[in-house]
Amino acid sequence: MVTNWKAVPHKEVKVTDKYYDEALHIQVKNMLLLDPDRLLAGFRETAGYIAGDGEETRTAFMKGKARYGGEWEDGMIGGHTLGHYITALAQAVANPGLSDDEKGKVKERLDYIIDALKECQDKTLGTKYEGYIFGACLPTKEFTDNPAQQFDNVEKGLSNLFTEAWVPWYTMHKIMTGLNAAFALAGNDKALEVDNLLAEWICKRSEGWSEETNKTVLSIEYGGMNDCLYELYDINRYLKESGDSRAYEDPERIKAAAHRFDQVELFEKVLSGAANVMNNTHANTTIPKFIGALARYEVDRSEEKYLAYAESFWELVVGKHTYVTGGNSENEHFGEDSVLDAERTNVNNETCNTHNMLKFSRRLFAVTGNKKYLDYAENTLINAIMASQNHDTGFTTYFQPMATGYQKVFNTLDGNFWCCTGTGYENFTKLQRGIYFKAPEKLLVSMYLASEYENEDYKLVQECDFTESDKVKMNVTAKDRKVIKDSLLLRVPTWIKGKMVVAAGNLRFEAGCGDKFLEITPAELAIAAGDSGAIELEITLPMGISCFNLPDGLNTYAFCYGPYVLSARLGNVKMKEKFHGVRVSVAAEKAVDSDELKVTEEKSVEAFIENIDKYLVKREESCEFDLSGVSKPLVFTTHFNQYTESYGIYWKYVTA
Ligand SMILES: [Zn+2]
Repeated sequence: MVTNWKAVPHKEVKVTDKYYDEALHIQVKNMLLLDPDRLLAGFRETAGYIAGDGEETRTAFMKGKARYGGEWEDGMIGGHTLGHYITALAQAVANPGLSDDEKGKVKERLDYIIDALKECQDKTLGTKYEGYIFGACLPTKEFTDNPAQQFDNVEKGLSNLFTEAWVPWYTMHKIMTGLNAAFALAGNDKALEVDNLLAEWICKRSEGWSEETNKTVLSIEYGGMNDCLYELYDINRYLKESGDSRAYEDPERIKAAAHRFDQVELFEKVLSGAANVMNNTHANTTIPKFIGALARYEVDRSEEKYLAYAESFWELVVGKHTYVTGGNSENEHFGEDSVLDAERTNVNNETCNTHNMLKFSRRLFAVTGNKKYLDYAENTLINAIMASQNHDTGFTTYFQPMATGYQKVFNTLDGNFWCCTGTGYENFTKLQRGIYFKAPEKLLVSMYLASEYENEDYKLVQECDFTESDKVKMNVTAKDRKVIKDSLLLRVPTWIKGKMVVAAGNLRFEAGCGDKFLEITPAELAIAAGDSGAIELEITLPMGISCFNLPDGLNTYAFCYGPYVLSARLGNVKMKEKFHGVRVSVAAEKAVDSDELKVTEEKSVEAFIENIDKYLVKREESCEFDLSGVSKPLVFTTHFNQYTESYGIYWKYVTA
């Protein structure tokens, strides 16, 4: 089935929810604290070596600045942060939630960086590296003599992170995605120039690969190189068809390069539905590959097999590898199918993965119209993405432990430029994305979140806060004409208790949760508006406690209240940290000896869960819940804004 759903443009939606609005401003403030010259240092050094500049010229070109430390930005993966940063800035430029002052600053920062990358690229003109920009460290003479050495090494299958190559194509994906966003979202023309010349370098390089070399390259993490190349192809195809002189002369060449990053062998393996096909695979390596498969279908709807690849992978991850928050993975990897309780540790739910699954789900919805993707997206945005931010500092998590008793650990300003720090920047400048989708003569409200959506015909204002009430007020006001020609489609959340009720003037609509959206036609909207041209809707979404166990831990339960995952507050006494992997800070000590809770008031766990409304009771004036009927009373709260204490989402209930 072909659908025409599109996420509405960033600039048409403003989020007004207090917590989300704060999250945006904290993030922007945090991002502006970074020194762009330090993020650019590696790119300038690389360009200097390519141009054959002497040390003095090179240092001057680098403005005397060094890369940030922490073994990532000054390591062989250096430069990945700048890619994320460009995307986050471009999104910020397009975000109506920013003040004029903030917008001026982020635009200035973005333009400065793109200008600097153009200067770097200009130094490559006429050399064998023409178009190449990169920011990783150049650890030995071998690398300063050949600043693309990492890419050569990958083609030989060499991938030692410290001496040979630390996923250079992954980093290239971040850079290209940033340039795509700077052009498409922020209208920076120079970004497209740099992007297209960089694409030419990629085309030339990959056109020389034998089948065997291509295979070797794909065996080493390459992010979503297919995704960003399809995206750039699409941008150029559109410009070319419009007769725009900014277009790359042969977009099909970029598409052919994208194909070289489609790992069909892996796609087929997943589509086969074989058991444990993801066991021990690196999650953040794999997810973007399938987003790339989807991208192939997005640019060519005859490639239906690629949609099937994407859908089967999504089903596998969400069905067999996902926790209640929407997160997945243990120590960056997928495990065996449906083994989740046994893999609850201090290193679950890498933020990059939820970031990518969220992006993936919304795009899958746009091409299929299937509601399940939006159900997942809402849950993941609230309970994994919003939950990844320290709401005081704007710093974000790498992992979110699913073992009970750990706390969230956040990055710091100049020490931790992890992969997830980069996705963390991106997450909070696009919070308005995915609330509204548009198709011809249809507007879909996918999420209930206080916000304003405005297009040329009408304005929709949504007010709600589920931590306080189960009511949503929605006002739709027609602009010039008094008639709204769009149908209004409302998503019926999976978490409602009973029926969703919509009152619109004298009209009343009801819907239970299912696969369909509640649709209000233009004729019905006209009746609801009466003579005023303004439509007021009151939507009631009854909330209550839902219980979720794990396939391999039938008595291990998590609780939700409405859309919110709840976690028990466990104090801040045992919040210790240690290093893990390459200087990643993780939680080191549990605040509880055991996550077992003995049921005291019922004979069985089933009976306790069945009567949960009796035992998990919301306090009158807050979104806190008292758990009783067990050996150890606990206080639960919404997980998304719990970042100052150790926590427990999952507890194992036992009877004597
Ligand atoms: Zn990450």
